[in-house]
Amino acid sequence: MKPIYYPEPFRIKSVEPLKMLTREEREKKIAEANYNVFYLASRDVYIDLLTDSGTNAMSSQQWAGVMVGDESYAGAECYYRVQEAAQKIFTMPYIQLVHQGRAAEKVLLPILLEGKKYAIANMHFDTTRAHVELAGARAIDCVVPEALDTTKYYDFKGNMDTARLEQYIKELGAENIGVIIMTITNNSAGGQPVSVANIRETRAIAKKYGIKFMIDAARYAENSYFVKQREPEFKNKSIQEIIAATFEGADCFTMSSKKDAIVNMGGLIGCRDKALFEVIKQRCISFEGFITYGGMSGRDIEALAIGLSEGVDEHYLQYRIGQMQYLAGRLEEAGIPFQSPVGGHAVFVDAKKLLPHIPYYEFPAQALAIELYKEAGIRACDIGSYMLGNDPDTGKQLEADFEFTRLAIPRRVYTQSHLDVIADALINIKERASTIKGYKIVEEPPILRHFTAKLRPLD
Ligand SMILES: *Cc1c(COP(=O)(O)O)cnc(C)c1O
Repeated sequence: MKPIYYPEPFRIKSVEPLKMLTREEREKKIAEANYNVFYLASRDVYIDLLTDSGTNAMSSQQWAGVMVGDESYAGAECYYRVQEAAQKIFTMPYIQLVHQGRAAEKVLLPILLEGKKYAIANMHFDTTRAHVELAGARAIDCVVPEALDTTKYYDFKGNMDTARLEQYIKELGAENIGVIIMTITNNSAGGQPVSVANIRETRAIAKKYGIKFMIDAARYAENSYFVKQREPEFKNKSIQEIIAATFEGADCFTMSSKKDAIVNMGGLIGCRDKALFEVIKQRCISFEGFITYGGMSGRDIEALAIGLSEGVDEHYLQYRIGQMQYLAGRLEEAGIPFQSPVGGHAVFVDAKKLLPHIPYYEFPAQALAIELYKEAGIRACDIGSYMLGNDPDTGKQLEADFEFTRLAIPRRVYTQSHLDVIADALINIKERASTIKGYKIVEEPPILRHFTAKLRPLD
């Protein structure tokens, strides 16, 4: 792959100071944090790649919007502005504000899953899976098999396996399936894009069997940029036209605004059916707040209305995806394995391949995350067996399909020099890879353990 890099389409007006601790200090901090990066204080982190969610830098326009935001309880000016922006972008007539993506799931999924047994998705994000299960249904993933081979190039590794989807529908009974979900980009497979052709095919299957079709739209803009690059039909279409094609005929969507809408907090629900919207609004009033603010302050709504448009700007997206491709290009040059081609919001380093001597039950991706912190104060996280946890029935450690150390890149936050620090740190680590040891968990809660577990290095 030839590195493609598009420079920042902005200059910096306000800066946030960072400090790099010494190696000795970092070794002490990570030990004090029980070798769990979630226990690190952010002041002790030089480059924070824990997530791209809500960690975005707002523009001067958005900060100006913060001052303009109307804090009225009902009918605030910013409400009308965000309605107009979202209706235009997502081509859906009914839009409801909520405070973040999982709030959208909490409101919408129980409505869709009432009296149903299953939700099927290309891949459920973890909060989506949780809300499917809280609604009393089972979440089934149905991604294309190409997603599982990290070394094989495939344009759309996020796609739904439509043949398997139809098989599932026949086996489980269409009447038992409440919703078919398309997550764009496919976060859990490595931020991998989904083609519009695949979305159309999936939608046609949903329609054929009378099942609701929902888009989990956190990274709708990044997905559309990949479609423009890789799907010949859309080569000459605008990002907005591609978004319209993506959402065409979808019954509804949920969205975390903390990703492609370039804000720090917020979420949306959209739908086409007036009767469904009435139910959404009523539940939203109980869970989130009155319909015109939906759990958000007016200033944040104003920033969201502006961020929605900034997030679909093609120069911005070129730079954004360009950052991923630049970092991936440097890693490829150095022979560092990652989910390839790189996705839209993160580089997923393949720790199973980089540290083959560490078995899954000694958490290679967690070991690599800790080395990155020691090496250069970089905070990444494990998306592998450490995060997956134990079998609830037997209590035995489960083996994940992937052992990824995820380098999630916040939007508009880090420069190319920061990306070079990340690449250089990984290159140094690769040179001493065989000396790196695994970890053992010494204390863990029963669920979502990766946030709070305590570990120690193996000798
Ligand atoms: C982040 C995310 C969510 C949940 O959104 P929050 O704003 O974190 O609650 C749901 N789905 C996907 C694909 C996401 O990336």
